[in-house]
Amino acid sequence: MVASKKTPSGERIVRCPACGKDSVYAPSNPYRPFCSARCKGIDLGAWANEEFRMPVEAPPEDEPFGDPKIQ
Ligand SMILES: [Zn+2]
Repeated sequence: MVASKKTPSGERIVRCPACGKDSVYAPSNPYRPFCSARCKGIDLGAWANEEFRMPVEAPPEDEPFGDPKIQ
């Protein structure tokens, strides 16, 4: 366990989920919990990409063998 850090002005510091560096978790940081726009963009991009790749329905891979239309 690590004690939560704070800035001299009392703002909470968290670890940026993208790069692991210190990030100010306060209204002064519009990208919180990320440290920067770049890190926030990276995470959103990965998320959107992941969702895009998710099929809406599972393909019928486990159909029984010997489909008469194919045979
Ligand atoms: Zn970062």
